[in-house]
Amino acid sequence: MIEEHVWQELTDRLEKAERIVITTHVNPDGDAIGSEVAVSEILAQKGKQVHIFNHSPTPKLYDFLNVRGWIEHFDADRHEPIIQEADLVIILDISDWARLGDVGKALQRSDVYRVCIDHHIVSDQVAHLMAIDRGASCTGEIVFDLAKRTGARVSGTLAEALYTCVLTDTGSFRFTNTTPKAHRMAAELIEKGVPFLEIYERVYEQNSPGRICLLAEAIRDLHFENGGKIAWFRVTQKMLKRCNASYWETENLPEMPRSIQGVEVTIMFAETAEGFVKISLRSKGRVSVHDLANKFGGGGHPYAAGARLQGTLDEVVPVILNEAKALFR
Ligand code: 5GP
Ligand code: MN
Repeated sequence: MIEEHVWQELTDRLEKAERIVITTHVNPDGDAIGSEVAVSEILAQKGKQVHIFNHSPTPKLYDFLNVRGWIEHFDADRHEPIIQEADLVIILDISDWARLGDVGKALQRSDVYRVCIDHHIVSDQVAHLMAIDRGASCTGEIVFDLAKRTGARVSGTLAEALYTCVLTDTGSFRFTNTTPKAHRMAAELIEKGVPFLEIYERVYEQNSPGRICLLAEAIRDLHFENGGKIAWFRVTQKMLKRCNASYWETENLPEMPRSIQGVEVTIMFAETAEGFVKISLRSKGRVSVHDLANKFGGGGHPYAAGARLQGTLDEVVPVILNEAKALFR
């Protein structure tokens, strides 16, 4: 729940600001991009000047939301002056300096007032005003409330962006964050005419051959621990090259082993181009994986969490598997 005085402060700040910068986490997902587009549409209706700067490029599949072309790949030389001159910065779907990448570094160098709208367990006080609702299915759900509170017209791109948030972050209404409110949000958006079939097709039925090749490689690498309760696999730079796939095409891959009978926890170990290992943890809802991620500097939700670790796959995998097995003791 977001307290009433926080809502008040948030809507006041939005009302007063003229030049606003929006950002989100590295490797943005549907909720991150959807929230950015939704907030920018709310602000556009009020005639505000909006910039969206992200550390990472936008995954191609979400280009359909970037209809105004406002989302820009952050370039410190060109964009840092715009941050310095802004009246307000809005950080969406993240409260972790490290996961704000280069934009985060620029923000830490500026004293512009910042608000953070998020539904994760808070990692850092990245903003002066923290509008956090851990009970929200997605950041877009909070933005939907914001749209209502500010009297925005929820239609067109704004409605499509919000629908993309709730669709992707709940895994198409399958994960434990699928609340009655998430369904009501989807229902209201469908009543407003959101083309849900088209959005589903854009998000889930645009796999490149490379992504399917990666899926095959991941399945081939599946390993099991604890009598099948833990399923894990690796994604190496070699696999990405062999498949001609991009790193962002690993999105949703951590969900793959969930469908296997008896699996409770799944782990994807992805080797990044920068020489880190990114771990993605998923739980079907009986054991929490957040603390494990947190122990290695990561975070997220109880049943979907991640972290970036220094080291090679050979070093990281056994350490994490040891911790994962301990979840069942
Ligand atoms: P994914 O595994 O899909 O990257 O992320 C799953 C969840 O964990 C998301 O909610 C994401 O925000 C969070 N998460 C992933 N990696 C990190 C990380 O390195 N630090 C933090 N604080 N959260 C992470
Ligand atoms: Mn989210």
